[in-house]
Amino acid sequence: MVRITLPDGSVKEFASAPTAGEVAASIGAGLAKSALGARVDGELVDLAQRIERDAKVAIVTAKNRDGTVSPDALYLLRHSCAHVMAEAIQRLFPSVQLVYGPPLETSFYYDMLFPDGKIMSADDFEKVEAEMARIVAENRPFTRYEMPVADGMAKLGKEGSKFKLDNAQRAVEAGSTTLSWYATGEPGKDWEDLCRGPHVPSTGRIGAFKVLSLASSYWKGDEKLDRLTRVYGTAFATKEELEQHVRLQEEARRRDHRVLGKQLRLFHIDEMVGQGLILWTPKGSIVRNELQNFIGAELRKQGYHQVFTPHIGKLDLYKTSGHFPYYKESQFPVIPEGDDLAALCDSGCSCAELVARLDGVAPQFARELNERAGREVIGPERVMDPNRLVNGFLLKPMNCPHHAKIFASEPHSYRDMPVRLAEFGTVYRWEQSGELNGMTRVRGFTQDDAHLFVREDQVAEEVLGCLSLVKIIFATLGMNDYRVRVGLRDPDGSKYVGDPANWDKAEQACRDAAKTLGVPFSEEPGEAAFYGPKIDFVVKDVIGRSWQLGTVQVDYNLPIRFDLSYAGPDNRPHRPVMIHRAPFGSMERFCGVLIEHFAGAFPCWLNPEQVRVLPISEKSAAYADELLAALKARGVRATVDHGNERVQAKIKVAAEEKIPYMAVVGPRDAENRVVSVRARGVEANLGEMPFDAFVAGVADEIERRLLSGAPGTVQASFGK
Ligand SMILES: [Zn+2]
Ligand SMILES: [Zn+2]
Repeated sequence: MVRITLPDGSVKEFASAPTAGEVAASIGAGLAKSALGARVDGELVDLAQRIERDAKVAIVTAKNRDGTVSPDALYLLRHSCAHVMAEAIQRLFPSVQLVYGPPLETSFYYDMLFPDGKIMSADDFEKVEAEMARIVAENRPFTRYEMPVADGMAKLGKEGSKFKLDNAQRAVEAGSTTLSWYATGEPGKDWEDLCRGPHVPSTGRIGAFKVLSLASSYWKGDEKLDRLTRVYGTAFATKEELEQHVRLQEEARRRDHRVLGKQLRLFHIDEMVGQGLILWTPKGSIVRNELQNFIGAELRKQGYHQVFTPHIGKLDLYKTSGHFPYYKESQFPVIPEGDDLAALCDSGCSCAELVARLDGVAPQFARELNERAGREVIGPERVMDPNRLVNGFLLKPMNCPHHAKIFASEPHSYRDMPVRLAEFGTVYRWEQSGELNGMTRVRGFTQDDAHLFVREDQVAEEVLGCLSLVKIIFATLGMNDYRVRVGLRDPDGSKYVGDPANWDKAEQACRDAAKTLGVPFSEEPGEAAFYGPKIDFVVKDVIGRSWQLGTVQVDYNLPIRFDLSYAGPDNRPHRPVMIHRAPFGSMERFCGVLIEHFAGAFPCWLNPEQVRVLPISEKSAAYADELLAALKARGVRATVDHGNERVQAKIKVAAEEKIPYMAVVGPRDAENRVVSVRARGVEANLGEMPFDAFVAGVADEIERRLLSGAPGTVQASFGK
């Protein structure tokens, strides 16, 4: 007897082990027909999988019961489609060797080796898709069969693919006791692939698919190994979903901050400066400065103090804070002091020993080195004092230790609290070059950082203050679709520092603060840092993509590590709590996200150039210059295009540069003291506006930091 518990809690009993498909059929014929796979005790499996023991079973269909698309279904569809694509490509390129083909979040790929140099190109996509359509129309079942490891290895050996042998080897190392294949149809007769599965029941269930792109890759990601071709594709349950996806992809490409950043000359990355290191060009710097001024002004209103700290700090600082050596992997190497380095060189110190001495584990290590034949090599007189550690500096990975030291630099009374220190502080992290991506994954970035040193009883209010700032800034930027995640302790509380009673209060404060935002929020047990709970911000952009920005974190740990205190009403030292907050993460990432959010068309106040004056001819040059001077006097970033081209050509250039307003002026405009206004993204001339009204209107729109076209803008005034 096998007892199957369904998601609604009801139980079905089977006399002998049913397949997942039979469970679906027992619920209803409709479900059996639409089923693609199942989750058995949480594990995703084929419908043909037998369930031998009592289990919780959920049938996977294309849509969940609430109408949302099921990620499990997409996984099954995409993995199955990867097999179909591989078979199709092998039909067209018989010498192709298959390497590895996993499903991804919105697509799938298959890495392949084209051994005779005749590599598939984008011109072949149509042929491949036609071949795939044939396989799908044949509606062949995905049939799993298994072999003991030794037999399976022998089979793979005979087939002669080192890639598949390696895949099998890794499966065995990970604990597989058998090897499994999936035949698309009949084992021994039809195409097959070494595969763990699971799959949809048959090729006919793959609703809609597309071959997307090619990229080059290396076996195991190693440049020294075979160079492979990665073929990307995607699959969806319906044609509509696929089309929607393709549209969004095109829109995402149109908004790509790496492309727009170059086109609009906002930032530059130069190989000679270094990958992942952003050069802010004059135009990009304007955007960043405007954002910093805006955030800075809000911070001043909230009683923050601006501070500046250096880009490096002594290793001891980060050993005290705990950032070194625990996060060593994500930091640039230590910069040793020159004298130390010279002494180490003189004593024949090895690189391994240097690292040990920097890490602060030197005594033991050095003793071992000395004992281990070291004396023969370098001679006893040249052996360094084995207990001596090496001093050095670290490129700052975090601003917090510096700010803690500013707080500690003078005595504080309970009456001065909270102390809020803010800095646009640049930090450096070591990211693998493969992880780098435009402005959003970089090696040096400037956090919109601040640290609040607060009394225990002020935590709730100060967390709330941090969130209200975020709310103002998101609203100003029109980022209204965001949610927050509140990271809490997990039930096993032993790994957390600080008093559990304080944690309870801090967690409650984070929850309460999150609620005040009026946006969706989720509680995530286990997502707290070991030193305190936190709030993360996830913004959805106009095309529905989620961006994780910054956080607000409560911290009981650093004040202990730096022995921070303030004098209480009892005149005794009390321990403050630290709140770290960088709600936008970094200026680099935030600007990258904003470029995509606005598709490069920033609101007037943020745009590098706000107005371009376009004289129709030489005759209007003087009037154009007068307008320019009036705009500049009001602080508007404006230029005049005095070129000899026709005005239509000038308009085209300004439109490409995404200038919010164009002021076209001709002799008649000069006579009537008006300007003909054009707005970005609007084909037609908006109409005429008096000279002074235009200047005042633009200046006002900028000062109020209005979104493009919002009520109160120059553009909106024409709609009335
Ligand atoms: Zn597979
Ligand atoms: Zn911090």
